[in-house]
Amino acid sequence: MYKPEREQALAKTALALMGECGVIATPENFELFYAYASGENPAITQAMGTLISARRPFTPEILLDLRLRCLSGARAARAMEDLGANMRGVIDDVLGKLEASARDTSNYKDALSAATGELGAERSPADLRALVDRLVAATRAMEVRTRSLEGELQASSEQVSELRSKLDNVRKESMTDPLTGIANRKAFDDAMYQALDQIAAGGEEVALLLCDIDHFKNFNDTWGHQTGDQVLRLVANCLAENVKGRDTAARYGGEEFAVLLRGSGLAAATRVANQIREGVKSKKLVKKSTGDVLGTITISIGVAQLMPGESADAAIRRADACLYGAKHHGRNQVINQNDPRVAALEPSAA
Ligand code: GH3
Ligand code: MG
Ligand code: MG
Repeated sequence: MYKPEREQALAKTALALMGECGVIATPENFELFYAYASGENPAITQAMGTLISARRPFTPEILLDLRLRCLSGARAARAMEDLGANMRGVIDDVLGKLEASARDTSNYKDALSAATGELGAERSPADLRALVDRLVAATRAMEVRTRSLEGELQASSEQVSELRSKLDNVRKESMTDPLTGIANRKAFDDAMYQALDQIAAGGEEVALLLCDIDHFKNFNDTWGHQTGDQVLRLVANCLAENVKGRDTAARYGGEEFAVLLRGSGLAAATRVANQIREGVKSKKLVKKSTGDVLGTITISIGVAQLMPGESADAAIRRADACLYGAKHHGRNQVINQNDPRVAALEPSAA
């Protein structure tokens, strides 16, 4: 849920820690230390925790390595840079081949024009014979070069197709949450802006669900972070099972998920939200490594209808107020923006 005080406190902790570790406060370094302060990225918690407790210096190489290993955004950016460099290489190569071919073609044309000139003059049979031999040789050479150019261009075109499919993979990776395999925050933000644009232009209605796992901190504290991660995957699967087609189910933040339901009014979206809530509650959790029965978990959901002309922030705040209402009224609940229980809590719901 929206907790600006928590975010501010985390930012302060992150900056203080950067100071203590002698790390320059660039946006990239801040991202790492903020993630460490929040404790929400287990890989960063582990790797940076080890470095800090061993008092090892954060060299630029170590910082880069941490970003590439632990932050999927940084990995995607590096992959894009590599692909861009490869693409430039292929383009330079093709341009070089085309220039060489243009030179060959122009030389061949010169040879042909020269021959035409010579044909006009009085020539002996021997001269003509020599001329024909030269033309045949020039034509053969041109044939060979054209054929090899064809082969080279074919190879370049295969390289370009390969790069294109790598680019598609990078794009997919940059939109996917690595832990759960569903859409990530960036993909959600994109889908949200698109939905709001369409609604502003008079398109179909869209509903927003914000979901938050109940008492997840207790669960992590009792069963450990890794088992907690298993639960995040389970909740993500439940969301994915209950949405379809052009809907978006995304991991919004640590243990929070967001869903955009296209073509759904508030009543239909509330029904879907209850299906999701029931689905999560009905799963029996068993710890894979030991077979321990972990009981069940529940989630709370806030449901808002996107309105024409409003900002993403306004819609999210409304759904968040509903989610807050669901927590406030006992958790394991779905509350939508028309619910009288939330109207009292959130004046901006109007
Ligand atoms: P509430 O019912 O009010 O939502 O209680 P809560 O304990 O779920 O809420 P709180 O925001 O206090 O705690 C959220 C916890 O979620 C804290 C953190 O340990 C856990 N968490 C966040 N991201 C991850 C993650 O990626 N993996 C795991 N295992 N836990 C995470
Ligand atoms: Mg939360
Ligand atoms: Mg929670």
